[in-house]
Order: sequence, then C-alpha cells, then structure tokens
Amino acid sequence: MALIVHKYGGTSMGSTDRIKNVAKRVAKWHDAGYQIVVVPSAMSGETNRIIGLAKEIMADPDPRELDMIASTGEQVSVGLLAIALQALGKKSVSYAGWQVPIKTDSSHTKARITSIDDAKVNADLAEGKIVIITGFQGVDELGNITTLGRGGSDTSAVAIAAALKAQECLIYTDVDGVYTTDPRVVSDARKLNTVTFEEMLEMASLGSKVLQIRSVEFAGNYRMPTRVLSSLTDPLMPLAEEIISGTLISFEEDTNMEQATITGIAFNRDEAKLTVFGVPDKPGIAYQILGPIADANIEVDMIIQNQSVEGKTDFTFTVPRGDYNKAMDVLNASVKEHIGAGNIIGDSKVSKVSVVGVGMRSHVGIASQMFRTLSDEGINIQMISTSEIKISVLIDEKYMELAVRSLHKAFGLEAA
Ligand code: ADP
Ligand code: ASP
Ligand code: MG
Repeated sequence: MALIVHKYGGTSMGSTDRIKNVAKRVAKWHDAGYQIVVVPSAMSGETNRIIGLAKEIMADPDPRELDMIASTGEQVSVGLLAIALQALGKKSVSYAGWQVPIKTDSSHTKARITSIDDAKVNADLAEGKIVIITGFQGVDELGNITTLGRGGSDTSAVAIAAALKAQECLIYTDVDGVYTTDPRVVSDARKLNTVTFEEMLEMASLGSKVLQIRSVEFAGNYRMPTRVLSSLTDPLMPLAEEIISGTLISFEEDTNMEQATITGIAFNRDEAKLTVFGVPDKPGIAYQILGPIADANIEVDMIIQNQSVEGKTDFTFTVPRGDYNKAMDVLNASVKEHIGAGNIIGDSKVSKVSVVGVGMRSHVGIASQMFRTLSDEGINIQMISTSEIKISVLIDEKYMELAVRSLHKAFGLEAA
C-alpha cells in the first residue's frame, strides 16, 4: 500500500475548525487506500508566543530550555489532530519526536536530524492507524529535546517521508504553491507548476520561507517527490484534482519546464551588515575577523574585501539580523585589540533581494538587467554576490518591496 506523508503548517492547524478540516482531508486520503503519516506544526502564532514568554524573563535564554518550551506547540497539535481523526472514526495515534525517536545532534534551536527509527510507525501503519508525528523537534543522544530551527516542520516531514520511503511528501500550507515571489508582496505573482530542485534550494536559502531550506536538501538527497499545495481548499475536493495541484519540485536536471530565464525573486528582510575599516592587508586577516564570528556560532553570508590602499583595506560582511548585536560585540572584542584595525560600523536595516533561475546559465545580461532596473528606481546596491543560478544584492530595507516588485515586472514574471 502506498504511503504518503502530509505536512500541515501553522495556519492550516490554526484553530479547531481548521484541524477538523485537516482531519477530513487526511481521512479522505486514507479512505482512498493510502497509508498516511501526518506531520503538523504548532497552531499559528503559538511558537512565537511561547518563545516570547521565555524572552520576557531573559533576553538570551539557555537554548536547551528554549527547545523544551518551543517544542510544546507541536505536541498540542498532534494530540488535537489525533482526536479529530478519532472523532471521524479513524484509528489514529500521535507521537512526539522523542517517542519515534527522531534523533538529532545537540545544536539546540538549530539541530540536524541524524536518524529516524521507522519500527513503531510501520507497526502502527500496518494496523491501519494514521500516524501523527510532531514537526520541528527531535531528541539528542543524551535524551534532550531539540528543535530544528524556525520553519523546521517542513524538514521533519520530508525527512520522515525519506525514512519511511514514502511515495510522496505533500506540504500543505496557506498558499496554493510556490510562486515567482511571495504573493503577499507582489499580488500578481504567478504560481509555478514545477520548480527545479536547484531553484527551490536557492529560493529557500535566499529567504523564500515557503519551504525551510533543509527540507529541500532532504528532498534532493533522497529524491523525495515533494509538492507544495493549499490546505485551505475544500478538504473533500476530488483526490484526482488534489494530486496534481500545487507546485511539484522536479529533479529533471536542466529542464526548466516553464522556459523562463528567471524563475523567481527571493528576498530576506533580516540581514545586517558590519564593516571593519583600516584592516592590514596581509595573509590570515579574513580568518582573524571571521574566526571569532564563527566560534560564536554566527553564520556569515555575503563578504566583500576592498582593494587595499597603502596596505590597508576595508572588510564588510553580513549576518542574520538577530545576531547583529552579538557579532558587533565579538568584533569589538577581538578585531580591535588583536588586528589593529580602525573603526567598526554596522547597519542592521538592510535586506537582500535575489533573482533566481537555472536559465541564467545560458543567458547573458541578467546582472545588467537587474542593476539597470534597480538604478531606474534610484536604489543603491551595497553588496553583490552571485552563483551560477542566482544574483543577490544587498540594499536599504526601505526599498526592499519596491525592488522586488520592479524586478518581478522587469523579468516578466507576472501572471498572464
Ligand atoms: P506554514 O505555516 O504552512 O509552514 P509559512 O508561513 O512557513 O507556512 O510559508 C508559507 C508562506 O510563504 C506564504 O504564506 C507566503 O507568504 C510565503 N512565501 C514566501 N515566498 C513565497 C513563494 N515564492 N511562493 C509562495 N509563498 C511564499
Ligand atoms: N512551529 C515551528 C515554527 O513556528 C515550526 C514550523 O512551523 O515549521 O517555526
Ligand atoms: Mg513554514
């Protein structure tokens, strides 16, 4: 019997009525003869609410305790969904991550899944039960509860689908697929029927939060067919229609099925930039600046080092905005004292906008078209980074939405 994994996000689980609708949809799939594992998120707003409680007590709480708190939202969801399915007459059982167990490393608040035991779940499925497993959480070697980073239920779902060798992983959310850009920012964004795995990986890593990046990595590593679709449609809609709805992540290399040069525009509002002036231009400097930043567990994204003048140069890099103050403290402590550099300045009000598309490989002039469009809008580019299939720019956050809209239009991405 084919197994399908369903994942439902926070909005989809946002109220008991929504949960009842999820149960109806899941029951419909089960009635059609599929074995079903469901991976829900916490009810919308819940994770923020409970993390907020911890932060009312202390600005920078112990990550282990944060995980203890943050993981409870999903535990409520799985129980409610199991009850909603039982109310429809279905056999259903819910599990927290540690009960499966879903094992992770010990990096609290951003743990990585290391293994998933399929024995218990397979036994339940064989008994005709619908199995519901908490998203977003796991357990480390020592038995501590861990969480997988914000948006991590996507990753739980795809990883569970891979471990159970599911036929497909369906990510149900509050939009009906992956769009050319966030439809909340550009109202005439176009839904994509397919997106290549590589493009989805870039879009997710550049800020399109419709899928957490690690879920896309799992989909790629295990070639798990993954589809993004809406949970807000009629739960009893015909299965034949539902199966082909949404956006399928495709593994067809280099066949950009929709024949566009640019597939989408991604953006990330939460960037911050730090510049160290007057750095001596000699071997080891980049390491001396960024080493302590890495040791503080801060991820660095874009980096620029200017040409040196009289043996001195400027060094600029970006970090997630939430780590800005910490990065500034680390720099002040380490760089000034040990490297003999001049001033350090920073800007925590910057955003990154990126154009993404595998078609870029075979087209020239994409960068110049992007830069012309931004220049026509009077938007200053602060930093640039590129890969084979993306170009990213860092700009003042004030212009982020304007940049996304004008690039979306300039590359002809709007719906017909
Ligand atoms: P869930 O709670 O279901 O996990 P998320 O809020 O994490 O939902 O992700 C869905 C949201 O992602 C959408 O509501 C949309 O605003 C946003 N989004 C960002 N970029 C895109 C995109 N390219 N296509 C579709 N949605 C996008
Ligand atoms: N509830 C978690 C969060 O809000 C995980 C998820 O929704 O995917 O980040
Ligand atoms: Mg999400």
